[in-house]
Amino acid sequence: MTAFAHRAERVQPSAIREFLALAGDPRITSFAGGYPDPTLFPIEELHKIYDELLSAANASALQYAASDGLPELRALVAARLTADGMPCVADDVLITQGGQQGLDLSAKLFIDAGDVIVTERPTFLGALIAFNPCEPDYRSVPMDEEGLDTDALEEVLRTTDRVKLIYVVPDYQNPTGRTMSLPRRRRLVELAEEHDVVIIEDTPYRELRYEGERLPTIKSLDTTGRVIHLGSFSKILAPGLRLGWALATPEIREKLALLKLGADTQNGTLNMRAAAAYLSGFDIEQHIAGMLPTYRHKRDLMLATMAEHFPPGITWTRAQGGLFTWVTFPQRLDVAAFQRDVLIPRSGVIVVPGTPFFSERPEANHARMSFSGVPDERLVAGVRAMGDLLREVLA
Ligand code: PMP
Repeated sequence: MTAFAHRAERVQPSAIREFLALAGDPRITSFAGGYPDPTLFPIEELHKIYDELLSAANASALQYAASDGLPELRALVAARLTADGMPCVADDVLITQGGQQGLDLSAKLFIDAGDVIVTERPTFLGALIAFNPCEPDYRSVPMDEEGLDTDALEEVLRTTDRVKLIYVVPDYQNPTGRTMSLPRRRRLVELAEEHDVVIIEDTPYRELRYEGERLPTIKSLDTTGRVIHLGSFSKILAPGLRLGWALATPEIREKLALLKLGADTQNGTLNMRAAAAYLSGFDIEQHIAGMLPTYRHKRDLMLATMAEHFPPGITWTRAQGGLFTWVTFPQRLDVAAFQRDVLIPRSGVIVVPGTPFFSERPEANHARMSFSGVPDERLVAGVRAMGDLLREVLA
């Protein structure tokens, strides 16, 4: 007998793991991963930095460090957040193990079994994986081209007890690529205040902006300290460093830091030192600006190829930033079954079926497709092959 805790019932393998394992196969064209393009990592700069750090004079880079993060890295992050309209100092920032840890710690801090988390519909499936062990109930709120539908949110807040958190990805959301408009951001903050709910604002794609205005963060509109702002170096530097941050009021930040102490003691000192050296010795804004044309080109190529080769009756989002488009097929198409029975065997293309992105009442006729990480020719060939097969099965 295995006497797992009750929460273990909510810890289940994700249906997408099995086919993500295929992504490493050279015969597979994967639009599934949300991986940044590895050719864009600043490898030479990081090589130089790590070389210097791994010397006797820098032995402290291999030592334990403060659990809330290296002070100089916290200060450098605080300076970037301040420049982005969220005035803060080093002490306000907690360094986390990627943005993902901010999700895990926030749920641990606020959610008892049966408390309600409101998510966008669809939402980032990794957030659900982080939240599930806390045994929440979920309500999901539809989105449109302006992001979260705040009228629908108002209705959910009015009619649902025990709502503790609202989780949103306002900039170039994963999986839809959508951006929440400024009026909706304002309304979201108002509603959270009215109903005394905490907002988690998750922003790993914020800086991958290919067009449109940079909108104020939800945190910057917050006057009552109820927004936990999460960010990440994964898409702007490298995900393997596992570095992110949380900005919150001192009361919340302190509790998150204590939870982090129990979870993993601290982020790796070496990586924190390297990130701090990178931010102080190189121009990360220039590095980010240098990546944007590549991603913009990939997005345009994928969307144009879909427009040319997908049969009628299929729609998709046009992301102004980030890495994803969300594709909606006729209701009768179950994307997971199509992928398993037709798409993978006959074209070697994989996408992420949409079902796991729904916190409740999943819909089977969507897919998330990432435009990063596949060379142009393969991208075009893969989308074309997918279009041909769709034409066949939908005929
Ligand atoms: N939030 C969102 C919306 C994401 O898409 C991801 C991963 N791509 C994360 C958080 C976590 O990323 P990381 O832990 O690498 O910062």
